Amino acid sequence: MRDRVSTPLEQFHAQMGTINDLVFQLTSDSPPAALADVRDALMVATSTISGMIGLPRGTTDCRFHPQGPIDPVAPEGWSNCLLCNTHRRRSTGGHRSERPPSSSN
Ligand SMILES: [Zn+2]
Repeated sequence: MRDRVSTPLEQFHAQMGTINDLVFQLTSDSPPAALADVRDALMVATSTISGMIGLPRGTTDCRFHPQGPIDPVAPEGWSNCLLCNTHRRRSTGGHRSERPPSSSN
């Protein structure tokens, strides 16, 4: 297995391989988190191939996934990185925000 992935095409091949692996592991009993992993991987691959055909790629301001998918509903104070936000949502029990509840006024 190659560790050095240099070209967008190589990145795309690697990402599609990951997607294939994830999809192959899915069963009818797979939890939503497993489906979310597939979705995240698909969005990363979509971003990569978008760059390859000249479409703008996302800029997440994330140091781990700078070209990753954008979270369209990122809670205030979170990054725009869908991958990190998905993991963060899972770790916080599905809450979309750590903000205190707004007053019912
Ligand atoms: Zn990220």
